[in-house]
Amino acid sequence: MASLFTKIHQGEIPGEIIYQDDVCFALKDIHPQAPHHYLIIPIQEIKSIADAQDSDKEILGHLLLVARDLAKRLLPGRGYRLVTNIGEEAGQTVFHLHIHLLGGREMQWPPG
Ligand code: AMP
Repeated sequence: MASLFTKIHQGEIPGEIIYQDDVCFALKDIHPQAPHHYLIIPIQEIKSIADAQDSDKEILGHLLLVARDLAKRLLPGRGYRLVTNIGEEAGQTVFHLHIHLLGGREMQWPPG
């Protein structure tokens, strides 16, 4: 069965897609944890980094470079945080790999 994010990408469920290319898309998070909160998601349904294969290297690199470009465009000159949760214990709730891009406010460390 298609993941929630695939359904949004395919237009079956509404969502605010702010970027897409042949490999990935970026979605506005529905429950933003910062003034800017986007999810960078590969079209291929990899469950998490733990499930990624060595052959997914290009996709994984691409996600980070898209995150960089979105941050450059939407948060010029600002700091930001990239996060990916792996497994329920780490807070993953959607089991289709996504990188959170968070910015627009002062960040705390350690994260909760
Ligand atoms: P995670 O908990 O790391 O798996 O992140 C899943 C993220 O997806 C959370 O930040 C949710 O707020 C977000 N989310 C869940 N449903 C939607 C949706 N329909 N549209 C956009 N973001 C969503």
